[in-house]
Amino acid sequence: MYDVRGHITQLLAQLPENVRLVAVSKYHPSEFIEEAYAVGQRIFGESHVQELQHKVPVLPDDIEWHFIGHLQTNKVKYIAPYISMIESVDSERLVAEINKHAQKNNRTINILLEIHLAQEETKSGLLPSECIELLRSGLKERYPNVRICGLMTMASFTDDKELISKEFDEASRLFENIKKEFFPDDDYFCERSWGMSDDYPIAIEKNSTMIRIGTLLFGPRIY
Ligand SMILES: *Cc1c(COP(=O)(O)O)cnc(C)c1O
Repeated sequence: MYDVRGHITQLLAQLPENVRLVAVSKYHPSEFIEEAYAVGQRIFGESHVQELQHKVPVLPDDIEWHFIGHLQTNKVKYIAPYISMIESVDSERLVAEINKHAQKNNRTINILLEIHLAQEETKSGLLPSECIELLRSGLKERYPNVRICGLMTMASFTDDKELISKEFDEASRLFENIKKEFFPDDDYFCERSWGMSDDYPIAIEKNSTMIRIGTLLFGPRIY
């Protein structure tokens, strides 16, 4: 079996204290999650509602599940009772739906706003200008059961380290500006989710607080 325990332990040993690991377990079996859990990992990232619905009931209750994929509004209701954080929020429609189901479940749901900085058109997310416009229009105040905890982004899929570095830099500056203008007194607005298996060292240099790592921990995904 793939040495999940070894890889997790090795990665955790390298991480600065202020950076948390989201172990991206999508397309991997629950046994892999149990291996990671056994060495202390508690935050896991998934990108498909159906897959989560299968895994959650058979795994320990104290796992913090992060949703990191494209989320359709009609599926929010399934994950609203238990999800710890939805990192991939890219429209007001989705925020409104999350708020509605958070209310129904009598809870507040933590989210990140996903920002589009990469060059590929295929990647999702709000443009920085759209994100700022939404916040200026009162996004934070309109949805009391949603807590906006920070930003998430993915860099371009490239070997060009300078480009990746530039994109994370941009994300970091956007975070600072948004913090200053909209959340100066809100300690919960502190998360910068960037960095994946291939670019996490650059992300950490660029102020990431949360890296989302799949392949490096669990091996290649079998689709
Ligand atoms: C799949 C995925 C990851 C993990 O990617 P790896 O390259 O396997 O580390 C991180 N973030 C998001 C949004 C993903 O969809």
